[in-house]
Amino acid sequence: MPNIAVLTSGGDSPGMNAAVMSVARCANHLDMPLIGIKRGYNGLLGRSGKLEDDFVRLDLDTVLDIADLPGTYLRTARCTEFLDPAVRERAAQRLRDMDVSGLVVIGGNGSFQGAMRLCELGIPCIGIPGTIDNDLAYTEMTLGYDTAVNCCSDVVRAIRATSRSHDRPHVVEVMGRDCGDIALSTAAATGAEIVVVPEVKWSVDEVADKLNFQIKRGNTRATVVIAEGCWASMKPFDVYKFLKPYGKEVYEGEPMTAERLASVLKRKCGMIEVRSTVVGYTQRGASPTARDCIFAFEAGAMAVELLKKGISNQVIGMKNGKTFHMPIEKALAAKHTFNKKLFNTVNGF
Ligand code: ADP
Repeated sequence: MPNIAVLTSGGDSPGMNAAVMSVARCANHLDMPLIGIKRGYNGLLGRSGKLEDDFVRLDLDTVLDIADLPGTYLRTARCTEFLDPAVRERAAQRLRDMDVSGLVVIGGNGSFQGAMRLCELGIPCIGIPGTIDNDLAYTEMTLGYDTAVNCCSDVVRAIRATSRSHDRPHVVEVMGRDCGDIALSTAAATGAEIVVVPEVKWSVDEVADKLNFQIKRGNTRATVVIAEGCWASMKPFDVYKFLKPYGKEVYEGEPMTAERLASVLKRKCGMIEVRSTVVGYTQRGASPTARDCIFAFEAGAMAVELLKKGISNQVIGMKNGKTFHMPIEKALAAKHTFNKKLFNTVNGF
């Protein structure tokens, strides 16, 4: 039987190991030998200089233990060289030399672009959406998104307990790049009073107005959940000019951060204290939820079945709770829709 191969690429996301395990299980069932490629597209280019560090034979025994582990056993990395067509041809030749008849790419938007280019070179590829950001519009969920939301919800619940104890507001920054879904779902899941997302370009004053509204109603312990992408998308605010007179250590031209926003809100809203927390990489390294693992399991199996049937250039997604596949190009062209109704409900207008 010809080999199939699997790699994880771009930012890691909880559930990537579960997807690799599912690909391995299904490949084993269909008697298709499976090769794991290390560190995304870098492995294909032999970047480590050691064969055993770029490729690993993924027998079932190796992967059965990793399914529920966070992170990615295959490692992941970005590979800027892969944007070069000559480099991609080298990678495709490597796959042909190894008699690889199909490649499963687990990653985000960029990784799918790479897969599409490999398809053009005659390498059948299937993509599984591995990113916590939920920024792939063609699918209702990406692998790791549910885990990230659960991780952030646990943090916000803990923050709200201490906010309650001290009667003070708190700013919590979550990930998601340009997509506000993690922030919005976390806010909805925890009853946070204010959510700020890149899709709705608020100013700092608008955030302060929202917090002031809560304070005037007697809520002095509101939570502001903010998506990391907002620092770039928010209307400009001169943090230096605002905070310097208060003796805060801030230098001219420095960007807004969660800590600085909390400091600004404290003054604009006349609070004794407003604190901040950045959830950070715990979202990426969290143990995958059952929901993510189930999606990974279904997606991994579907990827191998498609390759076995000779179908390629597809990505796998979730629609109305069901796993489905569609052409990569069409999936990448899908326009991001944002749940404005939920946003308005959380923010109370
Ligand atoms: P993600 O897959 O999480 O969106 P990146 O955008 O960093 O992460 O992309 C991961 C990798 O995919 C890149 O390092 C590169 O190797 C490959 N890639 C990204 N964009 C392209 C492209 N336009 N053509 C070919 N390969 C690409």
